[in-house]
Amino acid sequence: MKIVVLKFGGTSVGSIDRIKKVAEIIISYLKKRYKVIVVSSAMSGITNKLVKMSKEISSNYIPDEYDVLVSSGEQMSCSLISGRLNHLGYKSRSWLGWQVPIFTKGSHAVARIRNIYKKNITKYLKSGGIPIIAGFQGINSNLRITTIGRGGTDASAIMLARFFNAEKCIIYTDVDGVYTTDPNKIKKAKKIKKISYEEMLEMASSGSKVMQPHSIQDARLNRIDIEVRSSFKKVSGTIITKRKNIVNNKIIQGVSFTKNDAKITLVGVKDRPGIAASIFEPLYKNSINVDMVVQNISSNGKETDLTFTIKSEDLSKTERLIKKNKKINFKKIIVDDKVSKVSIIGVGMITTPGVTYRMFNALAKKNINIIVISTSEIKISVLVSRKDLNKAISILHKELPEKTPDGAIYNKLCIKLAIEGLELD
Ligand code: ADP
Ligand code: ASP
Ligand code: MG
Repeated sequence: MKIVVLKFGGTSVGSIDRIKKVAEIIISYLKKRYKVIVVSSAMSGITNKLVKMSKEISSNYIPDEYDVLVSSGEQMSCSLISGRLNHLGYKSRSWLGWQVPIFTKGSHAVARIRNIYKKNITKYLKSGGIPIIAGFQGINSNLRITTIGRGGTDASAIMLARFFNAEKCIIYTDVDGVYTTDPNKIKKAKKIKKISYEEMLEMASSGSKVMQPHSIQDARLNRIDIEVRSSFKKVSGTIITKRKNIVNNKIIQGVSFTKNDAKITLVGVKDRPGIAASIFEPLYKNSINVDMVVQNISSNGKETDLTFTIKSEDLSKTERLIKKNKKINFKKIIVDDKVSKVSIIGVGMITTPGVTYRMFNALAKKNINIIVISTSEIKISVLVSRKDLNKAISILHKELPEKTPDGAIYNKLCIKLAIEGLELD
């Protein structure tokens, strides 16, 4: 069986007209003799509304029930898609996670798919049916409904492609591919034809919402090529694939950013072995994700300052947990929820010197203060004040070196650095 998995995101199923369009896209693959597995998100805005309702009901909504609530949007969109296909004379039905079933592991709200039972769907495909599967959800070993993290339908699609050995996995969304930065923010953003899993993973986990980070991990582990394309425009999209399939690696592939970070500084923390673990243990136990961490070298060997970032929505809970943590002593806690993280990403960084300097210099020229820095092999992230965010994205995007197949970027960059160095002297 030649199988294609088609994933439709929230905006792509955001209205009745959009759902009618989605049905046409599905039919176009049937005409190409594919067996089609569809996986859909909730209509745009619905999941946010459900999350908001849970908060209005209780600030401590029980996780099992939270997942029952927030996964309910997908039921509606899936039924509407199959309803439309039925209307057009095609055999189709919706499948919720527990009906497939899709088994997950891990905690509620952040579970991961571990197994998908294939028998029923395969039988249905063979009979000419089009299964419309609810993304973002599954069941755990207690048979309770679970969800797999916001934006998780991307991961549902990748795992369906893996278990059904699909020939293609296509992510239909509201932009026509992965861009060098968010095209809705920076008009000069350029579409990337092919991007490696590693770069996409770094972009996704540093704020490029177009793909959910876990989905890229799953795709990378299982070597599944992904195509990201528009459900609005019929143009070619972006292929996410292994590095070996990409010929001309750029030094910097893209710029990503987050808007909802908060920074906490603990001033005068008693410096002793294990202190960082004591600070972060309760945060980890409460599923609070700590991102950037900086600890100053203690000048007197007794006290140090520790700064870290978290998502703004976790700020008050984190503050509460820190203040009631009896295992730590500090003089003062300073919080700032008006910070943002900007990152540049590219595998070319591994072999190219001077990228860090170039990034910092570009920000300095625009008078942008860097609050915290963190790096990986292929990413440099800086925390800046939120008021500087737009300026930082556009200057860094402008500074991206152009693609050259022959190492000319490297030479150009070195020459530029030399000139700048001379100027600085
Ligand atoms: P869907 O509902 O289809 O899953 P998302 O809203 O999750 O769509 O992701 C698509 C959005 O991601 C785009 O509308 C765009 O604003 C945003 N985005 C952020 N960074 C990028 C990028 N580098 N390339 C493309 N889109 C991006
Ligand atoms: N509907 C869920 C969300 O908004 C899952 C998804 O869209 O992928 O996060
Ligand atoms: Mg998404």
